[in-house]
Amino acid sequence: MFQLPQLPYAYDALEPHIDAKTMEIHHDKHHQAYLDKFNATLEKYPELQNMKAHEILKDLAKLEVEEADRKSLRNNGGGYVNHSIFWKLMGPAKEIDEALVKEIKETFGSIENFKNEFTQAASTHFGSGWAWLVRDENKKLKVYSLPNQDSPYTLGHEPILTLDLWEHAYYLNYQNRRPDYITAWWNVLKMI
Ligand code: MN
Repeated sequence: MFQLPQLPYAYDALEPHIDAKTMEIHHDKHHQAYLDKFNATLEKYPELQNMKAHEILKDLAKLEVEEADRKSLRNNGGGYVNHSIFWKLMGPAKEIDEALVKEIKETFGSIENFKNEFTQAASTHFGSGWAWLVRDENKKLKVYSLPNQDSPYTLGHEPILTLDLWEHAYYLNYQNRRPDYITAWWNVLKMI
């Protein structure tokens, strides 16, 4: 059974950009709920329990499971994996990834261009979902958004950076102001 990863910092470590109450509810309630439903679905399939969670998402289309369970693995497995990635990307202090910065500059022309493109994808995404920087099947960096808890792994892409666009990620502090949340998030994204 999969387990809830601990936050690698205190609930209030990302303030004032992301408030402690949002982090606590987001991690302890939302992430936990995805995990619990993911594990409940996996109980029926012992053969899947030895796989890594992201491999389940990668192989989603070809898993021999009931269709209702495939949907649960997509939504709840996706929710489990996406949040596990998200927490690790953030922190109270910058830890610049020079190799990633170099690759972003080569692909998008500049960090600013990349941030504009990512911000555009995040702010124009309709409804719940996530904005992504991925490495596609040709190893090229690409920006897009996906709905709900859909995972780039299912598309054969490797997630690099991501931003949670669900209202539960920002509504307590930012209410309907998703653009303000996106702007603030760049301050707590560690690696660029
Ligand atoms: Mn979330």
